Amino acid sequence: MQVGNARCAVVVPTVGRPSLDALLDALAQGRGPRPVELVLVDDRPAGAPLRAERAGLPPVRVLRTGGGGPARARNLGWRSVRTEWVAFLDDDVVPDPDWYERLADDLAGLPPDVAGSQGRVRVPLPEHRRPTDWERGTAGLATSSWITADLAYRRSALAAVGGFDERFPRAFREDSDLALRVMGTGARLVRGRRRITHPVRPVDRWISVRTQAGNADDVLMRRLHGPGWRDRADAPLGRRPRHLAVSAAGAAALALAAGGRPRAALAAGLAWAAGTAEFAWARIAPGPRTRDEVTTMLATSAAIPPLATWHWLRGVVTHRRVTRWRGLPDLVLFDRDGTLVHDFPYNGDPAWVRPVDGAREALDRLRARGVRVGVVSNQSGVARGLITREQVDACTARLAELLGPFDTVQVCPHGHDDGCGCRKPAPGMVKAACDELGVDPARCVVVGDIGADVEAAAAAGASGVLVPTPVTRRAEVAAAPRRAGTLTDAVDGVLAGAW
Ligand SMILES: [Mg+2]
Repeated sequence: MQVGNARCAVVVPTVGRPSLDALLDALAQGRGPRPVELVLVDDRPAGAPLRAERAGLPPVRVLRTGGGGPARARNLGWRSVRTEWVAFLDDDVVPDPDWYERLADDLAGLPPDVAGSQGRVRVPLPEHRRPTDWERGTAGLATSSWITADLAYRRSALAAVGGFDERFPRAFREDSDLALRVMGTGARLVRGRRRITHPVRPVDRWISVRTQAGNADDVLMRRLHGPGWRDRADAPLGRRPRHLAVSAAGAAALALAAGGRPRAALAAGLAWAAGTAEFAWARIAPGPRTRDEVTTMLATSAAIPPLATWHWLRGVVTHRRVTRWRGLPDLVLFDRDGTLVHDFPYNGDPAWVRPVDGAREALDRLRARGVRVGVVSNQSGVARGLITREQVDACTARLAELLGPFDTVQVCPHGHDDGCGCRKPAPGMVKAACDELGVDPARCVVVGDIGADVEAAAAAGASGVLVPTPVTRRAEVAAAPRRAGTLTDAVDGVLAGAW
């Protein structure tokens, strides 16, 4: 029986590629202490359940996103684990046999200011011939910084920055963006000694054309991190300025020809042809120069400059107004009476626990994204002798029956004049809920129907959202920092980042 690695969980986002089997086989056969669990985040929109079972794996849990890209899949994965460290692996890598041992070594004794440890990447290239353009591109992974093919982060570091920015739709730049934001908090990332192999994936000849979509993500990086982002992310500029020039020459040639200026059109056309030929040769020269590779390079070298330019322009338009990524909160606390359930004052009867419309669905949507949910409820009827604590607990149990499990339930049984620290608007219950779950109050939202709820949130350092009812005082509605018409609207807003 292996000794476990209680500090760590492994998260693998996957689209169910065949390479997942090779990864799981390697993780089943590897030696060393097993992490607490292996979380597979199935990012396919549909499909039969993944078959992950193999002797030797850590306990496996499979989550489904329904599709949404690797950033969202990784977020769902890390939010669902409770270990100190989260080790991300991509579903197209093969860890070395001693990967578990070295992972434990890499994380052992790291000082608290180290938020992440990167594994080392090996990309096998053919020995008997020169590598193709695609193989050379993949080989670049071996020297890239902070790629999540194999990167372990402290869970607290992920929580502090809201995890991966889900506005990066593909497996490109989302890892650099996260690294820059984590380092922006003053934390460090280091390189460990564990190793993975990243085989070159078989692709069709148009792969280099499709990857031009990443030019839009580069625009997002610049908007988020400023003009110096490439240096900090170790991401060279590449050929985009030349692509722009070649595209401009091509467009000018067409425009001049259409405008009846053949000589000028010819000159522009020659400039385009020269630029395209230079680009094609730069890609052909270091390669194997087979007929297939040369054909692919010629065809794609004509297509890439205008496509790169197009995607870059698309990014300029799409990302013209971007805000800092906050991600989802780690915890949403709900007031009970008047918020989750209709308010029957001093109710002690479970039969009168009647959820508001959409409460179950709203809570389930938060749970499905890995956001924890809880209840913070003033029950001064206990202090007044109108209801017993047992009745309050019976109503809470009924609430969970109707609305699903809560990660924390905080009840204040005191009266208005008892001077306790828990009765809202005091922050006691919000703080206690955050403490219990290890959540920074700054990553917590409180949803309630009166001013005391949002005041308790503010006093604890959390965000408050008011969902007024007809009996909520006007002044409290006016004073609320954030309002929503219904519980459903409040949760929609939280999921959209408005909290
Ligand atoms: Mg209330």
